[in-house]
Amino acid sequence: MSESKFSVDQQRRMLIKALGATTLASALMPTSLFAAGRGPTAVIVGAGIAGLSAAWELRKAGFQVSIFEKENFTGGRMVELKTGPLHGATHAEGVFNANREMFALGAELGIESQVRGEAYNQVWSPESGLGLDNGHGIYDPGGMSDFNIEMTRKIPGLSPETSNKLLLLQADMDEINATVDPCLLETGTAYDNESVGDYYERVLGKASGKEIVNYKIDTACAGWGWDPYSTSKIALLSWLSSKEQFVYPRGGIATLPAKLSSVLPVQTGTTVRYITPPDSNGRRTIHYLAANLERRSVTPDVVVCAVEGKYLASMVQGLTPKQEALSNNCFFTKQPVVYWILDEKHGPKELIMGAYTSGHPDPMKARTYHWVAMPGVPELNQPPYVRYSLSRKHTPEWQNSDMAIEDYCWPMIKQLYPQLEKSHVVDIVDHSCDSLIHMPVGYINQMAEVLREQRKGKKSLYLAGEYVSGAHTGAACASGRSVAREIIGHWI
Ligand SMILES: Cc1cc2nc3c(=O)[nH]c(=O)nc-3n(C[C@H](O)[C@H](O)[C@H](O)COP(=O)(O)OP(=O)(O)OC[C@H]3O[C@@H](n4cnc5c(N)ncnc54)[C@H](O)[C@@H]3O)c2cc1C
Repeated sequence: MSESKFSVDQQRRMLIKALGATTLASALMPTSLFAAGRGPTAVIVGAGIAGLSAAWELRKAGFQVSIFEKENFTGGRMVELKTGPLHGATHAEGVFNANREMFALGAELGIESQVRGEAYNQVWSPESGLGLDNGHGIYDPGGMSDFNIEMTRKIPGLSPETSNKLLLLQADMDEINATVDPCLLETGTAYDNESVGDYYERVLGKASGKEIVNYKIDTACAGWGWDPYSTSKIALLSWLSSKEQFVYPRGGIATLPAKLSSVLPVQTGTTVRYITPPDSNGRRTIHYLAANLERRSVTPDVVVCAVEGKYLASMVQGLTPKQEALSNNCFFTKQPVVYWILDEKHGPKELIMGAYTSGHPDPMKARTYHWVAMPGVPELNQPPYVRYSLSRKHTPEWQNSDMAIEDYCWPMIKQLYPQLEKSHVVDIVDHSCDSLIHMPVGYINQMAEVLREQRKGKKSLYLAGEYVSGAHTGAACASGRSVAREIIGHWI
């Protein structure tokens, strides 16, 4: 037999190309996809914290797991990716101290102290310029995880009437704190019947409710790009009523996913194209693009779909009506951020910053979520820059304007920092993020229905992640672990 001038790999590619057959590709699929073992096979789609946590639990229970991740890195939105020498992340940075499942997993992996963190002690004061400006003064808007009544009373310009009414919120906060797990929002379905804004207006009265939304709640929501008048109150109140702090993990936000990916079989650069409806044996086939760009397929016993919720409908065929309804209601918001990198000669001499309420009497400030002028830091190789973030309220105006973000924001930044000249700008970086999940009124109930249906009996497809738990890393982690426990209960 004469030897081919093509390598085995080349021959495989030629054969697949000639026949255009995905089935052949899957027949040629390396058998090493699953580690040797006799347990059920599971493919987890998505190596974010939810997928990794689910895979960890399943493997411990004897499943043969493989994780498909389309990026060349793991951790999803819980990752520290360097975007040049710039401060400011388009990913998660801190975690809630209420994240029990996450800390327990950290402990199991021997890295609990790295996963836990220190409280974020920012010095909010008018002198430092750090804080929220509502036109009456600069103040600490309060943490993400605590609606502190005494602190709220100190907001400059707050009417005495509103200040007196604040205690009316206490009973609800106590009840939510006692009954709702911020990591598994299905425990909060009873509070999914109105928006955050409507809630404050109902309890405090229209005028006081609007004051609180403007001075405090809008800023808490803006971090997620949420509109207080469409976001389910429990998506936010589950944090605000919690007494637990928001902390920055000592080892960095990526510690837990990095550790999990170091001990789990993750196929990076592997993009799932679609997942078929169940076949006559009840199993689903995953069609994917392998890292070497070959089209392949695999039919495991179980698929865990732990991707961003907005991708669910386009990825999975044969969703149930409840899953379909959830995915149609799952969309992401945008947070526009732009950097003007300056030449060394024209950088600011000191750090200057500002953050404003969207009801600020100065219209330019009302359009500004926050801005920073940052001197260069040579030891960090960081150039001087000016950073601007547009308010959530004005984001749609920019989106409808057909303008580049830097052009749209130029008049605002010019007014806030008049020294900025186009001739001093050496680079412009669009740092906008559009991967923040929205949780509108009714979403939590849809989510709970999907989970109830999922729990009913053995399936070939399970959903895990932020979109079926809550809009933060601790919820995604808890979701991965709890879904895995259900699968184990069904399959073993
Ligand atoms: C800017 C920003 C700031 C945030 N700040 C915080 C914060 O401070 N604290 C906090 O707790 N939370 C924060 N969050 C939210 C938090 O990051 C997420 O809730 C959490 O990381 C979601 O985890 P997940 O595993 O559900 O999804 P993801 O982390 O999104 O993981 C999904 C994975 O699926 C992969 N994937 C998608 N499609 C495919 C495909 N076709 N084939 C294969 N793989 C695929 C993706 O690449 C990704 O790795 C923030 C989010 C953003 C965007």
